[in-house]
Amino acid sequence: MLVNKIVTIFRNFPKRHFAAILFFLLMLISIGILGNFDLSNQKKESDLSKILDIEQLDQLAQIEQIYTARETVIKRNDSLFSILKNFGIKNENIINLINSKNSNLLSSIEIGDKIKVNLDENNEINDLLYIDDFQSGVRAERFENTYRINKFKNKLEKINIFKHVVIQDSMYMSGLREGIPDSVLMDVVYINGWDIDFTHDIRPGDSYSLIYEEILVDGEKVIDGNVLISEFINKGKKITSIRFDLTNGKSEYFSIDGINVKKAFLRSPVKLSHISSKYNLRRRHPVLHTIRSHNGVDYAASKGSPVRATGDGTISFAEYNGGCGNEIKIKHSEDYTTRYCHLDKFNSSTKVGRKVKQGQTIGYVGSTGLATGPHLHYEFHVNGKHTDPLRVQFPNATPIKSDDEIRFNQVAYNIARQLNNYKDISLKEEVPSG
Ligand SMILES: [Zn+2]
Repeated sequence: MLVNKIVTIFRNFPKRHFAAILFFLLMLISIGILGNFDLSNQKKESDLSKILDIEQLDQLAQIEQIYTARETVIKRNDSLFSILKNFGIKNENIINLINSKNSNLLSSIEIGDKIKVNLDENNEINDLLYIDDFQSGVRAERFENTYRINKFKNKLEKINIFKHVVIQDSMYMSGLREGIPDSVLMDVVYINGWDIDFTHDIRPGDSYSLIYEEILVDGEKVIDGNVLISEFINKGKKITSIRFDLTNGKSEYFSIDGINVKKAFLRSPVKLSHISSKYNLRRRHPVLHTIRSHNGVDYAASKGSPVRATGDGTISFAEYNGGCGNEIKIKHSEDYTTRYCHLDKFNSSTKVGRKVKQGQTIGYVGSTGLATGPHLHYEFHVNGKHTDPLRVQFPNATPIKSDDEIRFNQVAYNIARQLNNYKDISLKEEVPSG
């Protein structure tokens, strides 16, 4: 009965399977036969199972060379000598390294870079690596009684990272929650800071998408690279900024139409502040209690906060002046003048006739003149007329030069298309399935 059953099973088996089983059985038999005949093999097996004595263990340890790895990030006042001393390395070993050829490559170490060493059982340096952010640096390897010291450079690889963020609270906090590194968020603020005032303009539901680079060595991230494109939706308005390497070697950000995102003026003359009073042609003056027009914007900030020149220009006034208190005026061009009031102090370099750069500190927030508390009163004059600094359309910085235009259009087209592809994919993923 049993035999019959097996035969039926084999009959029902596809021929291919049958051949495979036959082959497998033959293999088993041949391994068995060969194994039995190979006596040396059997001997090896018994060698391995034998308990090793202490002497043999010592010999094995010498062959395997067990090293202790130590590493440190270079801090202020560190020297190569002090770092190696901290690792418990003896003076003569350190001197041996320093006396080796090319040791000058290790003479200028920089704060924030890394030193890694592998120490042998005598706590002597077997090899040492001095590594910078990009995982390149200097390698020292023991060779007989000295060290071979050489520079090395790892191959960098760049990958593009896409992120899409819907703002719930602040642009910064919402970005961090999506895993965007701090340095990249700072770049996003800088790139969009010409169009958006991040302390006053952001609304919940605003969003931004970006592509930035990550720099890898051996498949591991070593540093965040540049933001290649940023697309910000602020109160329904889309602002796209694309990074472009100009032929003059500089990299700047441009709108999709090739307009430099940089403006001739900063949005706000005080960084950490809030607007305490807007431009208003009919306002009750807080000190005089009469209806007077407010010809500027007040930025409340703590006493001593730096006040920045909002654009390049020349100081045309810098002294105490009645209700304005310590006052500075900057002439930016024939058309544009800015005025800063109630300053606690002027910067030492703020003198009439001196040139200033955009962002340069010209003075410090105070409450000199007619002021209820420390704030900056800031005015923007166009052709001699008061203008609301929060509404004025600032002139643009230099646009793309015609010889860069074709290349820019290609770069802009490619990166914008890449961003749209990423957005399409991520939006599809957000749709719940089923
Ligand atoms: Zn004011």
